[in-house]
Amino acid sequence: MATHDLLYEGKAKKVWGTAEPHEVAMEFKDDATAQNGLKRGQILDKGRVNARVTALLFDYLGTEGLPTHFIRQLDERTLLVRRLGMIPLEVIVRNVVAGSLHARTGILEGTELSAPLVEIYYKNDALGDPLFNDEHVAMMDAASPEELSRMKDMARSVNRHLQSFFLARRLILVDFKLEFGKIGSELILGDEITPDTCRLWDADTKKKLDKDRFRQDLGGVEDAYHEVLRRVEL
Ligand code: UDP
Repeated sequence: MATHDLLYEGKAKKVWGTAEPHEVAMEFKDDATAQNGLKRGQILDKGRVNARVTALLFDYLGTEGLPTHFIRQLDERTLLVRRLGMIPLEVIVRNVVAGSLHARTGILEGTELSAPLVEIYYKNDALGDPLFNDEHVAMMDAASPEELSRMKDMARSVNRHLQSFFLARRLILVDFKLEFGKIGSELILGDEITPDTCRLWDADTKKKLDKDRFRQDLGGVEDAYHEVLRRVEL
């Protein structure tokens, strides 16, 4: 990979150029951050787990007809993906109350929602990724109304597929974050789907098996990531 340019380095990934201009290599790091970068650390083996989990989940979503950027896995922690023009929004889908929804509403963590809730956040670290409504999206020209509506539809579809995928492995999909990009006018699911970007609870014990173990200093972080990979591989 070192022979190609580093195009971008984020908190959990590096993106490298490849010989093919329409493709990039996404390398997953062990670095972990929380509280908008205030808490920093490493989760041993996270890069390998997250690359594999993303590869398997994007492969599954692709076979279910959802357009994703995933092409193939290159090595233990690197995926080859289509180069997208990223939309600066985070699309969050929630099935159960946790995290910032609990903080914003006071509704008890663990409360099941009667229907999935889709939220849009503006992807901007300096602003702390603020919650946006449709009018903010239009005002900032972050996406057209049609694109926004299509992203929400795709996010609900991803949710339906992932909920059943995870439940078959005795995992509850509490909430998750998606990012989308474009090739021409086509909207494509990009980024990652991992225990960094999903909340996953054991369906029987309700044990947290995701980044909340790091965020909340619950211990057993590495074991939780390995357990998610083990079940996703089933
Ligand atoms: N999430 C993410 N990146 C972010 C913010 C949230 O991947 O920058 C994921 C998070 O892991 C969780 C879901 O989106 O699965 C909802 O997160 P929430 O809004 O509750 O924020 P948090 O409590 O994580 O700050």
